[in-house]
Amino acid sequence: MVARDGKRVTMQHKMARFPVRKDLADFDFNFAKTVDKKQIAELASGAFVGRGENVVLLGPPGVGKTHLAIAIGRAVIERGYTVEFITATALLSGLQAAHRQGRLADRMTHHGKRKLLIIDELGYLPLEREAACLFFALVAQRYEKLSLMITSNHSVSHWGKVFTDDVLATAILDRLLHHSHIIQIRGESYRLREKRKAGLMAPAEAPSGVSAEK
Ligand code: ADP
Ligand code: MG
Repeated sequence: MVARDGKRVTMQHKMARFPVRKDLADFDFNFAKTVDKKQIAELASGAFVGRGENVVLLGPPGVGKTHLAIAIGRAVIERGYTVEFITATALLSGLQAAHRQGRLADRMTHHGKRKLLIIDELGYLPLEREAACLFFALVAQRYEKLSLMITSNHSVSHWGKVFTDDVLATAILDRLLHHSHIIQIRGESYRLREKRKAGLMAPAEAPSGVSAEK
């Protein structure tokens, strides 16, 4: 890789606004047995972004959804694509504020500049109708041109409740899932596993309230 390309990658990693650094090399596929290493490597090649396809990462808390989303996002940047990482809450509050201030088109243009938009933690809270409509507008804008990667604790069948309105939910899911890779992760939380391991190594100090960690 030439130095100039290295600078571009560093700059794009910053611009993507990942909350922390996570890499595929640090992901333990032996622990996450339901995750297909080959499928993740294929996504990391960035080919899905070239085709404008979407990725949906599903599973309970702590199984590595955000880790994989960041790691794939970083790899995709190394393949020359632009990426933005944002939580669903930040994305929707930003869109709603822009809508009220008459700046929605600018905000949509901003998100539309990135080839891959990673939306983390969709569905923690049900969306109000206005937010669901804005989310639909975003999905429609990107359909078949720009990729979305979404992480969620809820199964796709539950998303109807998240978007409150069934008609809107169907319209969103129709476009989102048309060209998509769904990764369903099962198993226990990696965070709790680490706690348990620590408990084994130091039984006297083993935490009793393991579930206290988020
Ligand atoms: P989720 O987004 O599914 O709630 P995270 O991706 O935030 O979970 O993972 C929780 C923590 O556990 C993070 O620090 C992450 O790096 C780590 N982690 C999760 N799964 C793995 C794994 N299979 N290998 C290595 N670290 C993991
Ligand atoms: Mg997460």
